[in-house]
Amino acid sequence: MERLIFLGPPGAGKGTQAVKVAEHFGIAHISTGDMLRAEMRGGTALGMAAKSYIDKGELVPDNVLIAMVRERVQAADCANGFLLDGFPRTTAQADALASFSEIDRVINIEVPFELLLARICGRRMCAACGKAYHTSTHESELCSCGETLYQRDDDRAETVSRRLRAYETNTAPLIDYYSACGLLETVRGDQGIAKVAEDIFAALNG
Ligand code: ADP
Ligand code: ADP
Repeated sequence: MERLIFLGPPGAGKGTQAVKVAEHFGIAHISTGDMLRAEMRGGTALGMAAKSYIDKGELVPDNVLIAMVRERVQAADCANGFLLDGFPRTTAQADALASFSEIDRVINIEVPFELLLARICGRRMCAACGKAYHTSTHESELCSCGETLYQRDDDRAETVSRRLRAYETNTAPLIDYYSACGLLETVRGDQGIAKVAEDIFAALNG
């Protein structure tokens, strides 16, 4: 059983690495950002409510995220465990999570602040499979699955600085929170994608 959390600022590479790790362990990849974007595309009430926060670069209220994740981790594909990517993002979310699930390990992907803006502004996403690419290393406008890539509205520079501030204020305290529980492993995210993956697997197998 592996119940993992990936912690890190926007653009740290959580989603990129989460896909590899979830596949390796045969566990569910739970990206709350992907879940919220699917709700927005579907035009649901939850999606519409979330959009007003996401477009401003603010966090969606805790009660919405907690209910969403509490239900999601009970799904059949979480029987072997799960990897939470983008949750928890506040101490209240972490406390709630602890009340409904055990957590085995937390991987903190650390990236110097000045690298994040370029990473996020060059990010292109696939709406069909959620895969992220970067304009500096991927010239085609197509995903490997054939879908056309797009730039997230909240990945434009104006919104990104607010998201980075939200991370500093609300999410960075979770580093100490999980360190105090003895669950935290920190990995350097300012290396090539393959090397970051190698370090994450080493931390998880150690
Ligand atoms: P990134 O990993 O690039 O920072 P995400 O795709 O995880 O972005 O999240 C996009 C947006 O969705 C966030 O800026 C926030 O508004 C909302 N969101 C996602 N997860 C959470 C969460 N756990 N709590 C509150 N808001 C969230
Ligand atoms: P997060 O989910 O933490 O917001 P992503 O995995 O979406 O981050 O990565 C953000 C951007 O940075 C994407 O464009 C991705 O292709 C790129 N990226 C991810 N990991 C690396 C890395 N180790 N080196 C360079 N670019 C990376």
